[in-house]
Amino acid sequence: MKDYLVKALAYDGFVRAYAVSATETVAEAQRRHQTWHTASAALGRSMVGGLLLGSTLKGDDKLTVKIQGNGPAGAIIVDSNGHGDVKGYIKNPQISLPLNAAGKIDVRGAVGDQGIFTVIKDLGLKEPFSGQTPIVSGELGEDFTYYLAVSEQVPSAVGLSVLVETDDTIRAAGGFMLQIMPGASEEIIAAIEARLKELPRVSTLIDEGQTPEEILATLMPDAGVEILDTMPVQFHCDCNKDKFATAIITLGAKEIQAMIDEDHGAEAVCSFCGNKYHFDENELAELKKEAIA
Ligand SMILES: [Zn+2]
Repeated sequence: MKDYLVKALAYDGFVRAYAVSATETVAEAQRRHQTWHTASAALGRSMVGGLLLGSTLKGDDKLTVKIQGNGPAGAIIVDSNGHGDVKGYIKNPQISLPLNAAGKIDVRGAVGDQGIFTVIKDLGLKEPFSGQTPIVSGELGEDFTYYLAVSEQVPSAVGLSVLVETDDTIRAAGGFMLQIMPGASEEIIAAIEARLKELPRVSTLIDEGQTPEEILATLMPDAGVEILDTMPVQFHCDCNKDKFATAIITLGAKEIQAMIDEDHGAEAVCSFCGNKYHFDENELAELKKEAIA
């Protein structure tokens, strides 16, 4: 099954619902960053959250989620957009912690339980929108939920889930986001809360073969779920050699000459996708000219 996201309405429009299957998307990030067990789950959950938030944007609008916790994983950064593209970075990919007391992957242990959760939205306006909340859990689903409630004033429930194999690769990944619209009755909220308590993890449902549509139906039976839109999602990095060339130019002529003299070239590595770009001495000489000009 290819990764995709669905957007839906439920309970006569009082609930906006999103669900995504993202196994291959997260698996590609795992391969590119060579993340270990706990880091695989932390980066994967962050990317699923980024996809869900990103799906509320219009096409070319972009979004960055920065999770700066006090745990050993260090900063996690996810970029997504309204087209279903996502890429992610984790400072320390080699984190493999014992399971937590509940027998689950200890994402909080990797992320930390204190720090800052930031969302920056580039909506094509002069100034990007930026919202910030403290990390309240470190398990990430609750942190996305808290961010939406406090920073965007949208009462929500966010579930992010990644099933990791013993060899650190990804078996299943996905999530959901339910947003409660103004005027929703207490009965609706109570019904959703009760269902969330009994629902298995989304990655388990995906592993069992459930589609995003089926996950929403499982989550909200008898809610009249109406699918509005379906969108493929994928790991995508928009880096290219020109971007790194621009970055090298900003280092200045002296620094570029040092790369020529000492290293006889330069290699730039993209921290989001791991792609490598090589600049030989001639190319560096050209960039040096531009730096002087
Ligand atoms: Zn890249």
